[in-house]
Amino acid sequence: MIGRFAPSPSGPLHLGNLRTALLAWWAARGAGSAFLLRVEDLDPSSRPEHEAGQLADLRRLGLDWDGAVVRQSERRDLYEDALDRLVAAGLTYPCYCTRREIRDATRAPHEAPDAYPGTCRDLPAVRRRSREAEGRPPALRLRSDGVAVAVEDALHGTIRGVVDDVVLRRNDGLPAYNLVVVVDDADQGVEEVVRADDLLSSTPRQAHLARMLGLPTPAYLHVPLVLGPDGARLAKRHGSVTLADATRAGVAAPVVRARLAASLGLADPGADPPPLDRAALPRRPTVWDGAWVVP
Ligand code: GLU
Ligand code: ZN
Repeated sequence: MIGRFAPSPSGPLHLGNLRTALLAWWAARGAGSAFLLRVEDLDPSSRPEHEAGQLADLRRLGLDWDGAVVRQSERRDLYEDALDRLVAAGLTYPCYCTRREIRDATRAPHEAPDAYPGTCRDLPAVRRRSREAEGRPPALRLRSDGVAVAVEDALHGTIRGVVDDVVLRRNDGLPAYNLVVVVDDADQGVEEVVRADDLLSSTPRQAHLARMLGLPTPAYLHVPLVLGPDGARLAKRHGSVTLADATRAGVAAPVVRARLAASLGLADPGADPPPLDRAALPRRPTVWDGAWVVP
């Protein structure tokens, strides 16, 4: 079960991210498998210093990985190739919508409020030309035909989703997350994706994209998030939430690691972790109370 952790270097990892990393590492290592590290640095908010800090935090927690760190910014050809194949298969169309237009569009009662309403799916040529003349570069979307996809998750069971016309290339020219994650996981031979469950709803999209590209789908384990006291995803504004904060408060990295495991009802897995009992993991989010950074 080759595993991976795929952080976005847009800031320091908080202890919720690090708990997910610990589980991803444990799932792979506990099965005697390789564990890979992929830096998802396509977005312009990525910074090399954040990458360095994130990798240092993982090492301090005793997490190791095989081979060199893979950076998405160095793999653009791979994503272009996948995009070309989807375009050639007639599975894409340009979308000229602004965020506001998508937000304000009318939707059928059965459509999710944030789903793309399909405005540009069958745009007549004259309308397309007039939108092109406005000069705003289009995004590229998948023609999903509203396909229903079911995915198995080790913790959540069968996840069903209607795939929307997800963005494949952003209108700033960058290949979009849902595409690159599928291309990378397949290219790297990832067999099990362990990540936070805020990405659960994107999983049917990714499974569908993999199928359209003729790529294998990995197994999935979506683990609960750590939430701030306000119920929002843990973030810097919630106070002392990083490993550096814990160190400053006098809590050593091994203690933090044991606390991360304990928050999931698990004992510290040590350097050579036993098999991770996936089904025994809690399904509820953990609410942050600051105790992890109290000496
Ligand atoms: N880079 C994503 C994040 O940091 C994770 C993507 C994934 O695990 O599929 O949220
Ligand atoms: Zn559109």
